[in-house]
Formats: sequence, structure tokens, C-alpha cells
Amino acid sequence: MGQLLAGRRGLVMGVANERSLAWSIAQAAHREGAELAFTFGLPQLEKRVRPLAERVGASLVLPCDVQSDQDIASVFAQVGRRWEKLDFLIHAIAFANREELKGLYADTSREGFHLALDVSAYSLVAVTRAALPLMGEGGSIVTLSYLGAERTLPHYNVMGVAKAALEASVRYLAADVGPRGIRVNALSAGPVRTLASAGVGGFRNVLDWYAANAPLRRATNQDEVGDASLLLLSDWGRGITGEVIYVDSGYHIVGVPSAVGGERNERDQGADS
Ligand code: NAP
Repeated sequence: MGQLLAGRRGLVMGVANERSLAWSIAQAAHREGAELAFTFGLPQLEKRVRPLAERVGASLVLPCDVQSDQDIASVFAQVGRRWEKLDFLIHAIAFANREELKGLYADTSREGFHLALDVSAYSLVAVTRAALPLMGEGGSIVTLSYLGAERTLPHYNVMGVAKAALEASVRYLAADVGPRGIRVNALSAGPVRTLASAGVGGFRNVLDWYAANAPLRRATNQDEVGDASLLLLSDWGRGITGEVIYVDSGYHIVGVPSAVGGERNERDQGADS
């Protein structure tokens, strides 16, 4: 590839370690010439995030708990002191209490609901608002969603409801900021083993199910998400906003998986004649 993002500057929120989807996006953006800054959530994660940031030439690595308006204001003030314009923002942040991600959705607590929606959905609204003055008259904001926003999936529970709110927020924010040339989109990734996904009950089974039943017959890997983000971050995606793009080996199009239907296709059966 060339340098799709040469001269662009982007803030990446949501790197916890090398497995993070935000890290795959950061690596892809760096490869395409972008200059990056990072935030981290928990203070103890700075020691993990800073060396990763340095690997892609970033020195601005800032704490930001997205439940804190003060943290958000401070981050964007510091980014604004370093850069006169912000070209893109990656929001790859979600959290729910572990006990909400097993059992029944009907058992979700009021506090657990508020927490999941605040961190995983409202935070996109808050950081978009904070980014606007720095984006000026053009930019791209990309968040991360999951199929649980629109289908029930075992144990995803309140996080599915948070993702539904996130995807609706993508559309409303896109309508708000589109007249300024700013685009807001989501990538809906298939399941990938990360710190966040480890908290979802039965995750191993979900990975196996995707690998067996997705049209591409494999689970999603981080790099596929990173590469797809380039469409939304670069001018190639300049006509796309308010959209949810699936990077899930095609799983979201499947109705009854072939295994359940009782007939495997020829490729699965190993028949080639
Ligand atoms: P991850 O590496 O654990 O990233 C989740 C990030 O959220 C971490 O950097 C975490 O930072 C941050 N976070 C949580 N609470 C926060 C808070 N209050 N303030 C600031 N940051 C906070 O896991 P991931 O799978 O890459 O998740 C990134 C995004 O992709 C999430 O939105 C997730 O729902 C979505 N997604 C993941 C999958 C998958 O299968 N992995 C599939 C589809 C979508 P700290 O740990 O420092 O708090």
C-alpha cells in the first residue's frame, strides 16, 4: 500500500495491550503515514501502552478515564497544544461488570446498566464533542461495535444494548457533524481474543462457532480490523458516514448455518469433483 494517511494526525483511545483492536488500527494507520497520540484508561496500563506508542513513533500518551469529563477535556487540551488539527479519532472503548456478561440479560442491575452504557456508548458522544474544535472542517471518527447490537448472543447481555446505543449514536453524530465534513462510522468486528472479550462468558465457544459457520470459515483477526479501518480513516472512505461496516468473515449475513441445515457445502466436505 502507499501512504494513505500521510500528514494525518490521529488520537487512538483504547489500547490496553498488543491484542487490542485499537493497536491493530494504530499499526495500520502508522504504516500508512499517520502521526499518532494515545490515551490509556487504567493508570497501571501506562507501562504497557507507552512502549507500544513508542514503537509507532508516538510520544503523546495521556491518561483518560472516559467516565471523567475532566480527563476528556484535559486530553483534548493537550492534543490541541501539540497539534493544530486532529484528523481522526479512534474510539475502541467498552466496559461492563463481569457478572453482567453471564447468565440472563433480565438480571442486569441498574448500576451495571448505567456503567456499561456510560463507558461503552456515551463516551463516544463525549469524545466526539471534545474533538470537534480540533477537527475543524473535516475528519474521521471510528468506533468499534459488535453484532450483539442487533442480535441476541449468549452472555453479551447489557453490552449488546450498549452497542445498540453506540451504533445509534454513530448515526446521530454523523448527522450532527456531517455538515462540517466530519464522518462518524463503526467497524463491527467479529470475535477476537482480547482483554475485553475474555470477560464475556463462553467466548471460546463463540470463536469456534464463527470459525465453523462464517462464510470465510475463520474467526476474525486483529489485522483484518486494522486494515479495514483504513477505508474509513482515509479519503477512500470520504463518501461514507453513519455506517456500520462488518469485519467478521461475513458471519452477520448467515441465517441458519450450514452445519445446522444438515448440508455442508462441497468445500467443507472436501469434495472437489
Ligand atoms: P481491549 O484491548 O481490552 O480494549 C478495551 C479498551 O477499553 C481498553 O483499552 C480499556 O482500557 C478501555 N476502557 C475500558 N473502560 C474505560 C474507561 N472507563 N476509560 C477509558 N478506557 C476504558 O479489548 P478490545 O476487544 O480491543 O476492545 C476494543 C473495542 O472493540 C471495544 O469497544 C469492544 O467492545 C470492541 N469489540 C471487540 C471485539 C472482540 O471480540 N474483541 C469484537 C467487536 C467489538 P483500560 O483497560 O486501561 O481501562
